[in-house]
Amino acid sequence: MSKKNYDVAIIGAGVAGMTAAIYVRRAGKTAIVFEEKVPGGQIVSSSSVANWPGEVGISGADLSKKIKGQMLGLGADLEYAEVSAIKKNKSSFSVETEDGEYSVGAVILAMGTEPRKLSEKQTKDAGDRAISYCATCDGALYQDKPVVVVGSGNTAKHETAYLSNIASKVYHIHHDEPIPKDAVAVFVAIGRVPHTEVANGLVELDGDGYVVADENCETSCPGIFVAGDCRAKPLRQLVTAAADGAVAANEAVHYLG
Ligand SMILES: Cc1cc2nc3c(=O)[nH]c(=O)nc-3n(C[C@H](O)[C@H](O)[C@H](O)COP(=O)(O)OP(=O)(O)OC[C@H]3O[C@@H](n4cnc5c(N)ncnc54)[C@H](O)[C@@H]3O)c2cc1C
Repeated sequence: MSKKNYDVAIIGAGVAGMTAAIYVRRAGKTAIVFEEKVPGGQIVSSSSVANWPGEVGISGADLSKKIKGQMLGLGADLEYAEVSAIKKNKSSFSVETEDGEYSVGAVILAMGTEPRKLSEKQTKDAGDRAISYCATCDGALYQDKPVVVVGSGNTAKHETAYLSNIASKVYHIHHDEPIPKDAVAVFVAIGRVPHTEVANGLVELDGDGYVVADENCETSCPGIFVAGDCRAKPLRQLVTAAADGAVAANEAVHYLG
């Protein structure tokens, strides 16, 4: 299979990755963005976005659509595929997906975070009942049915309140408690973890698995940059994801010369 060549590969089409692609294209370099699920990432499940300057009450899905349109309009390529491996060569990188291999000059890691999964015990307990990580996305499927929310933080409280307008009963339990027998669906809200397995061994990760980088978004591996929620940093929001995307793209373009 022949390799396809691009200046920059961006792993993840969340707000960080799509912003990076916009900056790479505006600097005149070619860009391919890989997305294994939905462009927009985490924010797609939000019905009303806060703290994004210039938009009040826009849904995450609509905001994502706008950013995706802007990115594609500037000529970035979007590939719906999971990146399974990134390999460092002498003066380039190979990026692998199930369908092909790409040769690129620089890589921007923008894989974000994913929801933390249930414990082994609770997974067993849940059996073949539906498991969801987003009440706004899936709550409507359980109209007048009993459901359970697992988690102790604010997100779990928010999910419980949201579902109480839909379900016949909402149990709210902690991560080590048994799943009630009559609940038909389990809503999991026990935090998020970085989605960085593909970069493990290639760049430095902190103890929690976040990619370590300086304020230029440069990782420990020259030519690999990081943007957004998968970076070790104090504030994970849309504006900081977009800001990282801009910085990482700018540095990648400088690196390519
Ligand atoms: C419910 C919810 C509501 C929120 N509300 C707000 C808000 O109102 N305001 C605000 O500022 N922030 C909000 N946030 C936080 C905000 O959504 C995140 O900070 C931001 O979206 C992070 O963007 P990102 O691009 O870094 O990562 P993500 O959005 O996580 O995107 C990463 C993308 O990479 C893809 N990916 C990962 N690994 C691979 C791989 N190997 N191959 C291909 N693709 C891959 C994923 O599928 C994903 O689409 C909210 C978060 C949630 C969960």
